[in-house]
Amino acid sequence: MLRRGLRAEIRWFCIWLAVFATTGLLLGGLTAALLCFSFGYIGWIFTRLYKLEGWVNQARRKHPPEEELHGVWADITDDVQLMFNRHEKEKLRLEAVVYRVQEMTTALSDGVVLVDARGNIEWWNRAAGELFNFQNIDLGQKVTNLIRFPKFIRYYDKGDFNEPLDHTLAHKNQLEVEFLVHPFGQNERLIVIRDISRLSKLERMRKDFVANVSHELRTPLTVLRGYLETLEDADNVPPVWHKALGHMQSQATRMTSLINDLITLSRLETDEKEHSQETVNLFALSNIIAEDARHISGDKRHLISVSGDHDITIYGREQELRSAVSNLVFNAINYTSKEGVILIHVSQGVDGTHISVSDNGEGIDPKHIPRLTERFYRVDPGRAVTSGGTGLGLAIVKHVLLRHNAELRIKSAPGRGSEFTCYFPPARSVIPIQRSA
Ligand code: ADP
Repeated sequence: MLRRGLRAEIRWFCIWLAVFATTGLLLGGLTAALLCFSFGYIGWIFTRLYKLEGWVNQARRKHPPEEELHGVWADITDDVQLMFNRHEKEKLRLEAVVYRVQEMTTALSDGVVLVDARGNIEWWNRAAGELFNFQNIDLGQKVTNLIRFPKFIRYYDKGDFNEPLDHTLAHKNQLEVEFLVHPFGQNERLIVIRDISRLSKLERMRKDFVANVSHELRTPLTVLRGYLETLEDADNVPPVWHKALGHMQSQATRMTSLINDLITLSRLETDEKEHSQETVNLFALSNIIAEDARHISGDKRHLISVSGDHDITIYGREQELRSAVSNLVFNAINYTSKEGVILIHVSQGVDGTHISVSDNGEGIDPKHIPRLTERFYRVDPGRAVTSGGTGLGLAIVKHVLLRHNAELRIKSAPGRGSEFTCYFPPARSVIPIQRSA
C-alpha cells in the first residue's frame, strides 16, 4: 500500500505531465513540451533535495522545514525526524547511565583507574586521584609514569595479575594498599586500589597473638614436664600411676613440639627476610641432618644416605634451611616403614639449586598434595597422634622456602614413596670455589 505522500506525488506528476502534453499537442510541439516538463521536474526535485540536505545537516535540528516540503518529501522528513528523536532519547539515556556510573565510582572508597590498550590513563575516580595526586594534565599519560614505584612497574609490566600487589604508600602516611589489575576489552585494564590497613592490622594482631600465647605457654609446660619426669623417676609412686604418667609425659612432649613449631612459624612470618644472609653448603648441611636422622630412626633402621656435589653452596640462612630439610627428612622417617630407604640429593643446574628428600614409604594420594603445606593438614588425621608430628612441618618448610625465593615441589603416589624437592633460583647459587691441585 502506497503512503499518502507518494500517492500525491504520483498524482501531481501525472497532472503536470498531462498539462504539458496537451499544451504541446495544441501548440504542435509535443517533444519540446515534454523536454520542458522533464527539466522542470528534475529542477524541482533538486530544489527539494537541497532543502532536505540542508535540514538534515543542521547542528540542532528541531522541526522539519514547513514550506514547500509536501508529499513524499514531507514523509521523508517525518521519518528522519522520528529517527533523530529516537537517537536523541537513546543518547540522553546513555548519558544518564554514564553519569550514574561516574557518581557510583566517585562514592567508592577504593581507587579506580582505567588504562587503555597502550598503557595510558583514560580515567580515574576521586579516590584514585586523591591517592596519587592525579591532575587533569595526567590524562593520556603512561600509568607507569604516574604510579612509578619499582615494585608496581615490575608487576604491571610482567602482566601476571593472578595475585594482588601489596604496597605501603610512604607519601600517604604509610597507608597500606593492594593493587588489583583486571584486564578487559581490547587489552585495556582496570586498576583497583584498596586500602588494606585494617586487614594488615588484623593479620599482625593474629601473628602477635599466636607468638605471645606460644611463648606464655612454654614456661608452665616446662615446669609440668619437670614434675612429670621427677614423678616418673620416683620410687614411691604406686605402679598403677606409671602408665598414666607415661601418657602425660608423651602428651607434654607433643605440646612442647607444637609450641616450638608455632614459635618457629611466627618467627618466620615476622622476621625481616633480607638481613643476615650467609653461605650455606647444602651437602655438608645434609650430612649433619642425615646423622641426626639415623639416631631418630633408631630401631626402624632406615638406610639414610646423602648424594650429589660436595661443593654446592647457596646464599641463605643456615638455621632456617636446616629446620626445613630436617622436617622433610623426619617426615620421611615417620612415613616410611622399617628398613626403608631415604635419600637426600643435592644438585645444581641452569635453573638453580635443588635439594630433594625421597623415600620408598607409604606415599601420598595426589589429591592431598596441593594442601599438604597448609597448617595442621594431614592425609590421615587418625594417625596424627601416633606419628608424633605437629601438622606444622610442611608449613614451616613452605615459609622457609618463601623467604629464600624458593619453592617446594612434591611427587608422590600411594605405595610408591615420595619425593620432596626444594628449588632455589640461580641468583642464590654461590659459584663453587675451585680447589687447587
Ligand atoms: P605432620 O606433623 O603431621 O607430619 P607435616 O606438615 O609435616 O605434618 O605433613 C603433613 C602431612 O603430609 C602428614 O600428615 C602426612 O600425611 C603427609 N606427609 C608428609 N611427608 C610425607 C612423606 N614423606 N610420606 C608420606 N606422607 C607424608
